[in-house]
Amino acid sequence: AQHPSTSLLEGLNDKQLEAVTLPHQSALILAGAGSGKTRVLTTRIAWLIQTGQVSPNGLLAVTFTNKAAKEMLTRLSAMLPINVRGMWAGTFHGLCNRLLRAHHREALLPATFQILDTADQLSSIKRLMKQMNVDDEKFPPKQVMGYINSCKEEGLRANAVDAYDAHSQRMREIFEEYDRQCQREGVVDFAELLLRCYELLSRDASIRQHYQSRFKYILVDEFQDTNRLQYLWLKLLAGADNCVFAVGDDDQSIYAFRGARVGNMRDFEQDFNVRNIVKLEQNYRSHGNILDAANAIITHNRNRLGKNLWTSAGKGEPIRVYQAYNDIDEANFIVDEIKSLHSEGTELSEIALLYRSNAQSRVLEHALFSAGLPYRVYGGLRFFERAEIKHALAYLRLIANPNDDTALLRVINFPTRGIGARSLEQLQEAARAEDCSLWQAAINKVGNGRPGKGVEGFVALIRQMAEEATGLTLPEMAEIATTLSGLRTHYQNEKEGEDRIANLDELISAAVTFVNNNEDAGTLTDFLTFASLEAGEHQAEVGRDALQLMTVHAAKGLEFRTVFISGLEEGLCPHEQSLYETNGLEEERRLMYVAVTRARQRLYLSHAQSRMLHGQVRYGISSRFLDEIPEALLKRLNTRASPGRGGYGESPVSQTATSSEQKNSMPWKIGQAVAHSKFGQGVVVNYEGNANDMRVQVNFGSEGMKWLMLEYAKLEKV
Ligand code: ATP
Ligand code: MG
Repeated sequence: AQHPSTSLLEGLNDKQLEAVTLPHQSALILAGAGSGKTRVLTTRIAWLIQTGQVSPNGLLAVTFTNKAAKEMLTRLSAMLPINVRGMWAGTFHGLCNRLLRAHHREALLPATFQILDTADQLSSIKRLMKQMNVDDEKFPPKQVMGYINSCKEEGLRANAVDAYDAHSQRMREIFEEYDRQCQREGVVDFAELLLRCYELLSRDASIRQHYQSRFKYILVDEFQDTNRLQYLWLKLLAGADNCVFAVGDDDQSIYAFRGARVGNMRDFEQDFNVRNIVKLEQNYRSHGNILDAANAIITHNRNRLGKNLWTSAGKGEPIRVYQAYNDIDEANFIVDEIKSLHSEGTELSEIALLYRSNAQSRVLEHALFSAGLPYRVYGGLRFFERAEIKHALAYLRLIANPNDDTALLRVINFPTRGIGARSLEQLQEAARAEDCSLWQAAINKVGNGRPGKGVEGFVALIRQMAEEATGLTLPEMAEIATTLSGLRTHYQNEKEGEDRIANLDELISAAVTFVNNNEDAGTLTDFLTFASLEAGEHQAEVGRDALQLMTVHAAKGLEFRTVFISGLEEGLCPHEQSLYETNGLEEERRLMYVAVTRARQRLYLSHAQSRMLHGQVRYGISSRFLDEIPEALLKRLNTRASPGRGGYGESPVSQTATSSEQKNSMPWKIGQAVAHSKFGQGVVVNYEGNANDMRVQVNFGSEGMKWLMLEYAKLEKV
């Protein structure tokens, strides 16, 4: 007779099979990109359940994004006839949030505690620093935020960090006050979710034992990017008897800037008594040329655990490299390629556009938008981060918990209701004196009969909203928050308010979808949590075929038929900042490795000779990572553009600002390939001056960017 699990295990290679069916013991699966780590992890869950070793409730699975968790559950329900709803699969943040909601009292949090996203956290810190009279030049708020978060990620509270000098003592003080402020307001930041949960489990033996005896099997994807605190959390939850099944790839560790420690892998072997490390070496994702390029790039890194990847798929297509004249030309090139791919039958959702930093998406978005190509941006400026949405959410947050000072400050005078800086200051002083939230202080003032008109109106408004919201559905509450608040009217009167109103409508749709997808958990607090935790992953209309745009960081673990990696220039990728950091360059190279290994069949790499960044044109030479790929794997596409196509238009910093008369005496077209006796081949990117004193700027690639006197340079056309 057929073993029940045969079909589950079908098609796995020997190593994968071994990993999936390991006995109840902690294990580390160390393997390169596309070797099936995630597939092994998912299959192991299915296998454990199907063979009756554990029930769906007895498992805890940690994924890197909410998108990945959803995909895992979808795959599981396709493999097994089980209800995956309610399973504990999610990100560290998501899982900790769930645990804290269930035990909020023991965790000393209000039932409706709200989550501060990064922007909220920053404004909360700024507000605190102002109150504490901290000089924000000596203590840049962003740095303070980074300090607080990295302390928390190490598992440290203010009272546990060392401070030897006045500066670090002050930092510690701010940290301490900040935590107090969050507690008073009933809010937690991302790092706090984890730390709070960790502290709860360490402190409360009965809760700890409850979960320890429940989660016999803990499985963690992307283990290389866990930070210290996440590691400690896992260790605590595993206790002495449970086993942790960790899969990871040291070459894909790209979150060091957020405290990720590859060293966790080594500690894990020791602490969890890992007896064998399974290595998977066959790559099932990418064609040979793509894999060879990835391997070639990553061998330039020194500190590697080392592994080999091979594929039985053929070499496939060469990697296409496009050198653009500027970023607009680059975007237009990408659009044209996508159009023809699409017309040949590739679905848009099978195409990804990856970039190193978020700011790069703007030009791409614009080009896609103009071409009428639907796209979805993951991460970055998300729907839920747009100002009008944050305003509406702030009202919803106040309905859930009026003590949320960050939310209150966001909207107490928006739309304006005559509450000036002065009355706000008074309110803040009162709150400080009485050690209470601003809301409480406002109520007290109303009670004393001296609130000031605007404040009284605001208190009445929030009370009315809370009252009307009682018993309503989530979409109805969203309607109240957008309408009763006055937001809608406000934007109706604004010049370009239509988009914003459309977004407010979209918020109501988001609430409807949310309720539909979460029959069991559709409360306001759930929705707000969702908005803070996973927002960006849901922004576009569901079901529509759309291109996927994201940073390389956000692309981890995903795969696409066709991938475009744009902006491959020194300074962008590798990012210029990385050059000043220890191991910064190696981390950038791992990023490049992650980016390249997302592609299954076709990979485009592009760079631009000039690019508008922060309002200025910058000239870039191509990324060293491009040079690390063997030429034989590449197909260089011709630069096809001249400034006439895709110029910067009227911009004052435009490089096309050179006047037309000058053009007459300019022998070279911008974009022309030229050769110089000393610097070799290059491309003309700019020029200035007239006749005899005309100078041209040439990008000589690895030789750098040079200004040359035309008369003496003796350039030759190539
Ligand atoms: P990454 O490091 O990027 O997260 P990964 O190691 O998690 O990659 P998966 O995403 O699990 O790799 O697998 C990559 C691709 O290979 C997927 O499309 C997966 O379905 C496929 N795959 C994995 N194992 C096999 C196999 N034995 N036979 C056929 N396809 C496989
Ligand atoms: Mg994976």
